[in-house]
Amino acid sequence: MKKRKLLMIPGPIEFEPEVLRAMSLTTTSHVAPNFIETFGHCLELLKNIFEAPNGQPFVIAGSGTLAMDMAAANLIETGEKVLVISTGYFGGRFNDIFKRYGASTTVLRASIGESVDLAQIENVLKTDQFKALAMTHVDTSTGILADAQSIAELANKYGALSVLDGVCSVAGERMEQENWGIDIVLTGSQKAIGVPPGLALLMASKRAIEVWKKRKNPVPNYYADWANWLPIMQAYEERRPSYFGTPSVNLIYALEVSLQSIIEEGMVQRAQRHKKLADAFRRGITAIGLKLMPKTEEVAANTLSAIYFPEDIDGGLLRKKIMESDVIIAGGLLPEIKNKYFRVGHMGAVSANDLLAVLGALERVLLELGHCFEAGRSMAVFQDTILNWPESSLA
Ligand SMILES: *Cc1c(COP(=O)(O)O)cnc(C)c1O
Repeated sequence: MKKRKLLMIPGPIEFEPEVLRAMSLTTTSHVAPNFIETFGHCLELLKNIFEAPNGQPFVIAGSGTLAMDMAAANLIETGEKVLVISTGYFGGRFNDIFKRYGASTTVLRASIGESVDLAQIENVLKTDQFKALAMTHVDTSTGILADAQSIAELANKYGALSVLDGVCSVAGERMEQENWGIDIVLTGSQKAIGVPPGLALLMASKRAIEVWKKRKNPVPNYYADWANWLPIMQAYEERRPSYFGTPSVNLIYALEVSLQSIIEEGMVQRAQRHKKLADAFRRGITAIGLKLMPKTEEVAANTLSAIYFPEDIDGGLLRKKIMESDVIIAGGLLPEIKNKYFRVGHMGAVSANDLLAVLGALERVLLELGHCFEAGRSMAVFQDTILNWPESSLA
């Protein structure tokens, strides 16, 4: 009997053995020459991953929420207007964070299963001058993928800075920060980046840094203040020793290994792999009569799926039984429908085999609980989709 379970939640994900091995290297000084080299290299690699050759990367000990906090704290001053595009739980969190720094926020909230309409966003941008627009690329509570490129275009058209919560998308979905004109993109280490929890990653455009430099008041958050971190990031990139707060030495060793393997796969190829697996998984799920939360393919995320429990099934029992089958999936997160759905993460190094294991466990438990369908159906559809995937679409 295997004593490990397959971890299929939307973060933390399963990490590659070589990434975990890097965590166990001897911890050195944060100013040891080999560590300075690793940190500097990570900052360079991040510019490739975020597709922001002129961006300013920040790598700080903390979770993804710290990166959200850092974006709001450094960009916003009391009374400034922020438009928040919310497609779920994390849009709500971003709104709370901006308000904490004194922003006057307007929230455009999507209906469940949908994204916010572009025309609606444009209408609001027309009526008021916003300092910034914040959006969630993939909201992990709903599995909704926002059209970040088009929304950023609108922000630019109406002179608002754009901020993208990419915690559940960076290195999983296509995201070209500079081409798309996004001012801040942020993520955490434990999702599609593939490194254990504990690093907040943020990339700021030249314009975002200029706006921060022109602030009238100091940043009202000591730990997140770019004034403390910018010189440190610049020093590491120039391979000079420096100190503000002790970096997570071992996590940064692991980060270098994971970022390198992401670059080796290729950003386009990596996003395509996520898309192919997610598409096959969604088809498998719907083939056995289950409903996905995203109402259309267009707004369905490729890094996770949010799936409604069938109405004739006790969701709590289903989750418990799947767990007993050695597969860990996540429950609901959106408060109003928390007990009506579950979530499966499929990002990072995820393979077709992992998703077949999820479908296998799910089918077995559903059949045991009396949900009717032809056994093996979801897996057959999954395999068929993978086998017939048009690789030529890899552009
Ligand atoms: C996970 C997640 C966060 C929060 O990240 P933590 O590392 O848990 O702080 C924020 N936004 C999105 C979209 C996420 O998926």
